Amino acid sequence: MTEVRCYAESWPLRTAFVISRGARSQAEVVVVEYLRDGITGVGECTPYPRYGESVESVLGELRSVFPALEQGLTLEALQTMIPAGAARNAVDCAMQDWQQQRAGAGAPVPPSLPTVQTLVIAGPEAMAASAREAVAQGVSVLKLKLDRELILPRVEAVRAAAPDAEVVIDANEAWQGEDLPQLCEQLANLGVAMLEQPLPVAEDEPLAHFRHPLPICADESCHTRKDLPRLQGRYDMLNIKLDKTGGLTEALALAEAGKAAGFELMLGCMLCTSRAVRAAWPLGHLVRFVDLDGPTWLAKDINPLRFAGGRVYWT
Ligand SMILES: [Mg+2]
Repeated sequence: MTEVRCYAESWPLRTAFVISRGARSQAEVVVVEYLRDGITGVGECTPYPRYGESVESVLGELRSVFPALEQGLTLEALQTMIPAGAARNAVDCAMQDWQQQRAGAGAPVPPSLPTVQTLVIAGPEAMAASAREAVAQGVSVLKLKLDRELILPRVEAVRAAAPDAEVVIDANEAWQGEDLPQLCEQLANLGVAMLEQPLPVAEDEPLAHFRHPLPICADESCHTRKDLPRLQGRYDMLNIKLDKTGGLTEALALAEAGKAAGFELMLGCMLCTSRAVRAAWPLGHLVRFVDLDGPTWLAKDINPLRFAGGRVYWT
């Protein structure tokens, strides 16, 4: 007999998380527990307003699928039962966690992954100070959140503060009227290693019309394998997140199909606890950039992984 439960949790952040879309002070997550044969599998998701999701909408979606789950819905059948998104992610991860526990699977390989450290939007000097602090702690890849203001001064300030760090940028769809080809040249000349989602999803067609001097990564534009045809020629890299793919099942399939189509890969997460990072672990060795620092923004974590020196360790 199978029993399924879901509930919301709110995790206060240790400091505000500021990106082009706004500031957050809490991580709002939804947890699914999948109980069968005395084993409880747990999965977590982060509903994301940008994708039309709220805690309430995700709880509603989950409850609608619980009767089928309690009657033995398989992981495979789940994939067509709920559309890709946070709700399916929590169920997919809970079922996979249950399967791993039943199989008695041990700690995963590799035992640690390198992860970028995010620097949220602030003045150039404040971002430079955060960069210095991160590098002093051993971080080697910095991810700068940027909006449309002070793009070059912010990057130059971080570059000067952390000349040996690898720097990537995430604009979260905030750029529009800028002369993007010229801006990309300038960023490449500053040694920026990658630019994530500069343009809004519905307006990313201009990316197809110039040679990219640095790789451009699709995040908001890339959810599942269905998106791949329209990303061809516009993007060079894909940011895979379980909350977008609707779980590990589609995430692994997207990684394989994306690689076969010539994309480089990145692995990302939302503001989440270590539960969500553990679920994404099997993708870590497949990607060029691991961006799993979500739990480092929490004031308190659950079953925490250890983050140190620019790496995350399975504990
Ligand atoms: Mg992003």
